[in-house]
Amino acid sequence: MAERDGANVSEKPLENVIIVGGACAGYTAALYASRAELEPLVIEGFEWGGQLQNTTDVENYPGFPEGIMGPELMQKFRSQAERFGTRFISDDATRIELSDGGIQRVWAGEEEHRAKAVILAMGAEPKRLHIPGERELAGRGVSTCGVCDGAFFKGEKVVVIGGGDSAMEDAIFVSKFASELTIVHRRDEFRASKIMLERARERPNISFKTPYLPEEFVAGEDGKIAKVRLRYASGGSAEELEVGGAFVAIGHTPRSELVSEQLETDGDGYVLTRDGSTRTNLAGVFAVGDLVDRVYRQAVTAAGTGCMGALDAEWYLRDTPPSPEAHWASEAETGQPGAAKVGLISVGGARGPRASA
Ligand code: NAP
Repeated sequence: MAERDGANVSEKPLENVIIVGGACAGYTAALYASRAELEPLVIEGFEWGGQLQNTTDVENYPGFPEGIMGPELMQKFRSQAERFGTRFISDDATRIELSDGGIQRVWAGEEEHRAKAVILAMGAEPKRLHIPGERELAGRGVSTCGVCDGAFFKGEKVVVIGGGDSAMEDAIFVSKFASELTIVHRRDEFRASKIMLERARERPNISFKTPYLPEEFVAGEDGKIAKVRLRYASGGSAEELEVGGAFVAIGHTPRSELVSEQLETDGDGYVLTRDGSTRTNLAGVFAVGDLVDRVYRQAVTAAGTGCMGALDAEWYLRDTPPSPEAHWASEAETGQPGAAKVGLISVGGARGPRASA
């Protein structure tokens, strides 16, 4: 049905819910939303599949006792959502205009899509060193996730690059499998919390090398990583470490660039959610997965919050303005007259520049 929007008449029907992001969190949200008959539209991105698309064996996703390849797991997530009627646009979201309880607008390329609710599931990207060998040897000994890949390095010499909590966490986990593990950090001081640093120091097979910068990951004859070339940060002399694995743990960047000016985020750009739910500071806008999670960042936790996002959106669509019994709404919301009427698309109080009619 065409909707009048100021002077423009959009030909496209108003969606119930648009999900932005095609990986663990987004596809799980789509599965639940489609089974709730909300007919979700997923703007999944040109390179859908997220971080698992670049992962080989996944051995820690429950339900696959023999393990599964990352891309195959993502295809299964996608197919399961599709089976219940999810529609996909395999293009990147280029612009998002959020509203507080009004119409949510998302552009894929030049095309505008509108919905009563939106679930943001754009994920986070591991930061890269941008050194030779890093991309080429990804999945061949160079990894950005110790918890995911540590068990593949039994008896190997391994390096972990970084000086924050992620590096310590990865090092402590991977050291259970590796024969020797060296934490390479570019400064003598560590950003990691004291307790994590102490735990790493207490492991007998972990040593520290500072201040050193990695310059190159070098492949052996079998095409897998064989060496890491390091440079002394304040002197310039170079040296090489023979390794069977390298973990780059220098932080993550949440992919919130399209919404960070419109939503409450923390200092690093992670979207803030409320009361243990996926609700953001804007009514009808939900955020899930690695976009909100700086700590766990696992496929299974992302999938879990994707489920939560779909349920939160379903309750919001069913029950807005919230009745006094609405378990999901705060007292202030249930007691507030004239709250956003999503079912009727009352956009008088909406913030998006094109949302006021
Ligand atoms: P982080 O605290 O930002 O640390 C990143 C580390 O990588 C820093 O030591 C940084 O060096 C180094 N680094 C950055 N870019 C580099 C480059 N190009 N070359 C070499 N080294 C580079 O990131 P994080 O460790 O991912 O932690 C992020 C947040 O999550 C923190 O708040 C942390 O406490 C939290 N977290 C908590 C846990 C836990 O409690 N179990 C686990 C993981 C993360 P400099 O110090 O020199 O800048």
